[in-house]
Amino acid sequence: PALTGTAGVSDALQCLRRVFGYDSFRGEQEEIIEHVVAGGDALVLMPTGGGKSLCYQIPALVRPGVGVVVSPLIALMQDQVDALRALGVRAGFLNSTQDADERRMVEAEFLAGELDLLYLAPERLRVEATLRLLDRGKISLFAIDEAHCVAQWGHDFRPDYLALSSLHERWPDVPRIALTATATDATRTEIAARLGLQQARHFVASFDRPNIQYRIAPKNDPKKQLLELLRTEHAGDAGVVYCLSRKSVEDTAVFLAQHGIEALPYHAGLDAGTRAANQSRFLREDGVVMVATIAFGMGIDKPDVRFVAHLDLPKSVEGYYQETGRAGRDGLPSTAWLAYGLQDVVQQRKMIDGSEGDDAHRRRLASHLEAMLALCETVECRRVQLLAYFGQQSTACGNCDTCLAPPVTWDGTIAAQKFLSAVFRLARERRQKFGAGQIIDILLGKKTAKVIQHDHDGLTVFGIGTELSVAEWRGVVRQLLAQGLLAVEGEYGTLVLTDASAEVLGQRLEVLLRREPEKPARASAAKGS
Ligand code: ADP
Ligand code: ZN
Repeated sequence: PALTGTAGVSDALQCLRRVFGYDSFRGEQEEIIEHVVAGGDALVLMPTGGGKSLCYQIPALVRPGVGVVVSPLIALMQDQVDALRALGVRAGFLNSTQDADERRMVEAEFLAGELDLLYLAPERLRVEATLRLLDRGKISLFAIDEAHCVAQWGHDFRPDYLALSSLHERWPDVPRIALTATATDATRTEIAARLGLQQARHFVASFDRPNIQYRIAPKNDPKKQLLELLRTEHAGDAGVVYCLSRKSVEDTAVFLAQHGIEALPYHAGLDAGTRAANQSRFLREDGVVMVATIAFGMGIDKPDVRFVAHLDLPKSVEGYYQETGRAGRDGLPSTAWLAYGLQDVVQQRKMIDGSEGDDAHRRRLASHLEAMLALCETVECRRVQLLAYFGQQSTACGNCDTCLAPPVTWDGTIAAQKFLSAVFRLARERRQKFGAGQIIDILLGKKTAKVIQHDHDGLTVFGIGTELSVAEWRGVVRQLLAQGLLAVEGEYGTLVLTDASAEVLGQRLEVLLRREPEKPARASAAKGS
């Protein structure tokens, strides 16, 4: 579309108004766009829903030539291109879902200069024929979407993304803009290094999503807890429920459907047709609840997702923030709810211990888990913790569960000592390791079959912890794990002491614990504030 200059209004702003129909730029969009239009490289970190697409779409329209967009989201390319075409933008894509004829047509359009934007799957750029095709046309910019895929922990598309560093060598004059919704300093540095973006200007948007209410609840009967949440606060709302395994996706979707909720499953084990049909119903119909593994959601742009629920502990704060960020893109109040329990920690630990890769890789996974646990067990504002994780300082938000119903803290030093000494005695006197269940039974003085079989009623710690309930002890264990005062290992989730445990046992360290609020925080409490 021809952009005729109007005095005082930049080409970019005209493009925003005429093509996209918006009045003004949001946040740093304008600065980013001007920088790229002028030919600069950029690394853009913006939360999901922040408006990253315009940051490369508008420069692609304003600069001469075709903007080449690298995106791993093959399933969404058709939708993205259709949406752009509806606005009169000449867009096309090349990926493995097309037949040779379709591809040839797009290539011809590209060569004839009849495209503004060309979307490519990253693996396309490892094919010499594609590179030669690009050589024969005029490229206005390279946009590298979901740029965190190049990072260590985002390795699904990693080899293809690592190869993108060569774009600069082949086309040194074409500006590159890399975009991601994840933003720890470590990831940012890694993206810049791996993609050869040393000269790029960094644009880091605020990561706060004030309309999302973060809540993390102890898990007891997760499906029931979820149903309660949906019925009391989100009746008829669209939302996403994340589960770790395909099986729990299936079970949860069936359970919700049986209770009258419009729930659909989504995971990589379903055939492509079912996945596409379910995704499309979620996007187009009102009030559909998508029960999914994390295979679902990247690039999904549905503004009115009112809640994101996690029935299992996410593997990292980055993942959690990306997933919860899919709620409330329209800015209206939304809920991010997570149910988490001791079993999650045991299970994840098991997955880390059994994961492929070297020790450094396992240590990295473990540190991600630790950060996630710290978020779960914090007595402070969840948002303050989250934003701090992304390097941003803030004050208590008033719109998270710990702000709305501040957890009571108690001096758990003695409880911690009792628990840790039980672990110590088992190791020292019996050369045994056990999981939390057995140790809690011992502390409570329960003569279960397993206790009797192992002669555990003869331990000096037998029955010394009757002042707490099973649930309270499990809370103690979770928090000891989160504070690094205890560790879990191996296939059976056995508990072992850490270096820091000795500080507690030696009376040199006090342990402050969080008591779960009697009544969990509710959205209704927030509406008044
Ligand atoms: P991201 O890719 O960062 O998750 P999108 O680019 O999909 O976000 O944008 C999120 C939503 O915000 C989209 O519906 C988009 O059309 C809208 N949006 C982006 N920029 C603006 C703007 N300047 N004014 C109004 N709406 C905008
Ligand atoms: Zn808060």
